[in-house]
Amino acid sequence: AAYRAEHQIGAGEGTDASALPACVRDFSRAPFAPAVLGALRAAGFSSPTPIQAQAWPIVLSGADLIAVAKTGSGKTLAFLLPALHVLTAGGARAPAGGAPSPRALVLAPTRELAMQIEAESSRFGKCVGCASLCAFGGAPVHAQKAALLRLRPDMVVATPGRLVDLLGQGALELGSCGIVTLDEADRMLDMGFEPQISQIFAKLPPAAAVGAQSSRQTLCFTATWPKAVRKLAASYLRADATITLFIGG
Ligand code: ADP
Ligand code: MG
Repeated sequence: AAYRAEHQIGAGEGTDASALPACVRDFSRAPFAPAVLGALRAAGFSSPTPIQAQAWPIVLSGADLIAVAKTGSGKTLAFLLPALHVLTAGGARAPAGGAPSPRALVLAPTRELAMQIEAESSRFGKCVGCASLCAFGGAPVHAQKAALLRLRPDMVVATPGRLVDLLGQGALELGSCGIVTLDEADRMLDMGFEPQISQIFAKLPPAAAVGAQSSRQTLCFTATWPKAVRKLAASYLRADATITLFIGG
């Protein structure tokens, strides 16, 4: 599919497709664990979707990413698989003591979406020994707190409101969270989650230079690219190290 890529936040600035890492056009060229590649084939997938082909090497390079791509284009695995790779490649795990301290966070607008994403992160995370947990509103908070303590997950998938509640109760902390994904950013803003997103980012590591110690990598996935999403991305992604992909448009 056609895509357009830019190196700066904000349409029209700094278009430079030549600086992009090469697309991963087939699974055998992806650096993921053999068990992950096996699970992709077992799912009946024959090749990466265009957003996956382009996003995987960008995320693995450590850059921040904005991906604008329509529903059904395979965005979930576009961010989950490189995040799982980064989490497990070094063999590191979430710290064993203190409050549960995930190393990856995904924010999604609804319970249904959070559950779908977490089902995928569990399915592929299992291949590499990476535990995930889903936290959403409309369910008892104490059960999610207990599950956090029991699992000490590497990856948390949450709706913004419930994550703010859990943070307020000290049920987890985000200081070790080096990779953060805003999924369906446009819908999260439509639903009025901007204040919660802002509170969450205040607890995350800073977006320091790529490769710097305890720096945060931020990914923003969205189906549409209105001004509100551009503003959100400009607030939380690294202006000098963000690639914006427009897939299929
Ligand atoms: P989006 O988030 O862009 O709406 P999803 O991540 O939900 O898209 O994926 C849409 C569908 O495509 C899902 O059923 C998913 O399992 C499937 N899918 C994901 N990656 C691939 C692939 N590489 N090949 C075929 N189907 C895929
Ligand atoms: Mg999606």
